[in-house]
Amino acid sequence: MGTPVIVLFTQDLRPHDHPALSAALRAPGPVVPLFVLEPGLLARAARNRRAYLGEALADLRSGLRERGGDLLLRRGDTATEVGKLARETGARAVHLSAGVSRFAARRLDDLRATGLEVCTHPGLTVVPPGDVTPASGDHYKVFTPYWRAWEAEPWRAVLPAPESLELPEGLDPGAPFTPDDSAGVGSLAPERQAGGWTRARARLRSWTDGGLADYGDRNDDLPGAATSRLSADLRFGCLSALEVATAARDLPGGDAYVRQLAWRDFHHQVTAAFPWINTRDYRARDREWRRDPEALAAWKEGRTGVPIVDAGMRQLLREGFMHNRTRMITAAFLTRTLSVHWREGAAHFDAHLTDGDVANEYGNWQWTAGTGNDTRPNRAFNPSRQARRFDPEGVYVRRYVPELAELSGAGAHRPWTEGDGEGVEGYPAPIADPGR
Ligand SMILES: Cc1cc2nc3c(=O)[nH]c(=O)nc-3n(C[C@H](O)[C@H](O)[C@H](O)COP(=O)(O)OP(=O)(O)OC[C@H]3O[C@@H](n4cnc5c(N)ncnc54)[C@H](O)[C@@H]3O)c2cc1C
Repeated sequence: MGTPVIVLFTQDLRPHDHPALSAALRAPGPVVPLFVLEPGLLARAARNRRAYLGEALADLRSGLRERGGDLLLRRGDTATEVGKLARETGARAVHLSAGVSRFAARRLDDLRATGLEVCTHPGLTVVPPGDVTPASGDHYKVFTPYWRAWEAEPWRAVLPAPESLELPEGLDPGAPFTPDDSAGVGSLAPERQAGGWTRARARLRSWTDGGLADYGDRNDDLPGAATSRLSADLRFGCLSALEVATAARDLPGGDAYVRQLAWRDFHHQVTAAFPWINTRDYRARDREWRRDPEALAAWKEGRTGVPIVDAGMRQLLREGFMHNRTRMITAAFLTRTLSVHWREGAAHFDAHLTDGDVANEYGNWQWTAGTGNDTRPNRAFNPSRQARRFDPEGVYVRRYVPELAELSGAGAHRPWTEGDGEGVEGYPAPIADPGR
């Protein structure tokens, strides 16, 4: 038996299409799959993400056990735990997927400082950040030229899940992670999507067999909820973005869908080059921000009096998810209409989204706020017009705002015109101009 090799799982909680795992399996020794629960990170994580993580780790452990291996769970600082496990097993190398955040960069430095051979692999995106770069500069700042270069890039082949694994004997697997509801931030959404690669693969299959064909026409249909809902599965790597893109690209609807996956890659390559995306303006625009705790609280609770905004914010609390169109509408309402800083809004999203991550979340917040990669930073976002266009019959609003359930059709978007201009009892008057 050769020297063991450690595979450190991070945002890639799956057995399929896992380049780091496949590379480790090509070495002659046994493979030691490991996930390290960092208490500091977990304490700041949304309850919805902690719950998803618990399910994803349990599912990955079962998947690896069925193949003769296991997933070892350790608690503490990642590099310290990897170092300890290497001493215990005699491993001299650790393989992992390359990340893009500041945390991932620090973790890589710390791993290298252990003296182990550290091998990074693609695995988080379709096209790895840095594989397509403009003639001048280290990353694309604008999506359209990125998309053109991205489309022309060949993709690596999707890798199969290993048939069998061999684990050194006598290793303590570590206690399962059963998240305690009293820890973490935000609230646990009553209708959140449960996690794990098995569920994720079933969702992918039903998406490619069903909704994908109409994606191009219906992705902005708010009441139809006609998008894939795979974002959390991609966030935790229960699905490989490359495998999803490969499964979709030649099917009807595939082109439009793969373009959205390219947006995800785009934000990853921006974050790799500008890892301060979650704290600093990508492009400083001299925006004047207002502190308005009352308006911010109303926005968070879905009580702004602007139905389309409130419906989106309540979907977030109910499902730990929000449709992309309402993410844009609610973020624009906060940053443009109320002039409240994008960091305040992103922090609330981050406390509730199951798919919340550094690259997509903050990249999109900055895009919407006009400090990011949008080439039209002063883009107008009129909530009433958006509501009429994307929820013409008011179905989405009535689904999430029960106070407006009695209003028919598009009337749900104008509660302030009800009751001789008094509005609807129990529902607030708009805290800012909802647009006409
Ligand atoms: C303010 C704001 C915050 C956001 N925060 C997040 C976040 O934390 N995590 C996240 O994954 N997405 C985020 N998005 C992007 C997008 O809203 C979600 O990816 C999408 O709504 C997820 O639903 P879906 O899986 O059904 O998407 P689909 O429409 O089915 O798209 C398929 C996949 O493509 C990717 N994708 C789609 N749109 C985008 C986009 N604009 N940017 C990057 N990737 C995209 C996602 O991985 C998504 O799962 C945010 C958008 C806005 C405007």
